[in-house]
Amino acid sequence: MKIILKNNEEKRILSGHQWIFSNEIEKTEDFSENGQVAELYTSFGKFIGKGFYNKNSLIAYRHLTDKQDEVIDGNFIFKRLSMANSLRRKKLNTGEIYRLANSESDFLPGLIVDKFENKYSIQIFSAGMELLKKEIIEVLQNNFKADFILEKNDNEIRILEGLEKKEEILFDKTGTSQNEFETELDGIKIFIDLLNGQKTGYYLDQQENRVLLRKYIKAGDNVLDLFCNEGGFSLNAAFAGAEKVTAADSSEHSIKMCERNSQLNGFSNIDFIKADVFDFLNEGFQKTERYDFIILDPPSFTKSKKNVFTALKGYTELNYKAMKLLKPNSFLFTFSCSHHISEKAFEEMLIQSAEKAGRSIQIIEFRNSSFDHPVLPQMSETKYLKGYLLRVTV
Ligand code: SAH
Repeated sequence: MKIILKNNEEKRILSGHQWIFSNEIEKTEDFSENGQVAELYTSFGKFIGKGFYNKNSLIAYRHLTDKQDEVIDGNFIFKRLSMANSLRRKKLNTGEIYRLANSESDFLPGLIVDKFENKYSIQIFSAGMELLKKEIIEVLQNNFKADFILEKNDNEIRILEGLEKKEEILFDKTGTSQNEFETELDGIKIFIDLLNGQKTGYYLDQQENRVLLRKYIKAGDNVLDLFCNEGGFSLNAAFAGAEKVTAADSSEHSIKMCERNSQLNGFSNIDFIKADVFDFLNEGFQKTERYDFIILDPPSFTKSKKNVFTALKGYTELNYKAMKLLKPNSFLFTFSCSHHISEKAFEEMLIQSAEKAGRSIQIIEFRNSSFDHPVLPQMSETKYLKGYLLRVTV
């Protein structure tokens, strides 16, 4: 099939962005099904590339290759996964747990693959990748030693692509369900339950930031981990010698996993609380306890541009309250995982929060997601996590 663009609409894709939106298309020829591979042409008939087409999605075209003769099949998936894997294997001390494929930023539009030793959890967000599911499974089995593959396709984004939500074990070599297992990440034992955990089953994007914590925690510190999920930051704080860690999350499953992980490592100084963080902070105001280190890692408050203002209000409330609960000259590790919140907007929010809290702040580290979640500079949609390690002085 062919896609012919409107005049000048090829500019963004030629600069390295990966999408064409439906309103940028003049006409299509020989359409047969959503997700099929289409050739992309300029308004004056010049070939640009090949990619997935979906007539029901605002993201009508997702780029795959600049080469007209490149075949999009299992071998293509193998080549792209191998290229992605070579980045992961370059890092010193790479273990067997990492994000193998990060969708558009690994030139695999709509495909996420998280590797947990020989177990793989995948998410598919494009109709094109859905059509290649069989090939993806075969490549993971034949070339990446998969003995367990889980599809965690419960995300709303699928609806925008006209795909149904579903979670299913796609392959289980031994026949004994392996979605729950014990493993180790950077020296800390963890229990992972892929089926019941959030997103792919476990958040890998914060792993380097969790480990970074060890540099700043001193023996005797009192640490607060807000939106702790399965306790990644808390476990690292305890590992680094914190005297006491308090962690809060509203998910019952997350808190159960935290307790299990803490026991697994023999930590007895982490207090996990199932609570709404907004309420928890308000209650904190009434108490005298103050902290040496607070981690603030809320979920994305906005999935669209139009809610940015409300989202920033939410971030301000959390950040100024956290700043007030810190001892003088202590640390706040604060994050936003929404790509609609720019660094500039987040920094302005931090300035306002500090003013409201009556504290001074210094930026000590500026952080991104872990190395296995690369970002395409031409495509701001691939950049989402921003982390600021602040010292909060008086
Ligand atoms: N810091 C975590 C990731 C946090 S993800 C890590 O290192 O893995 C965001 C978490 O916020 C999720 O676990 C979710 O259950 C929790 N959450 C969402 N809304 C909440 C609320 N209002 N109060 C407490 N927790 C909330």
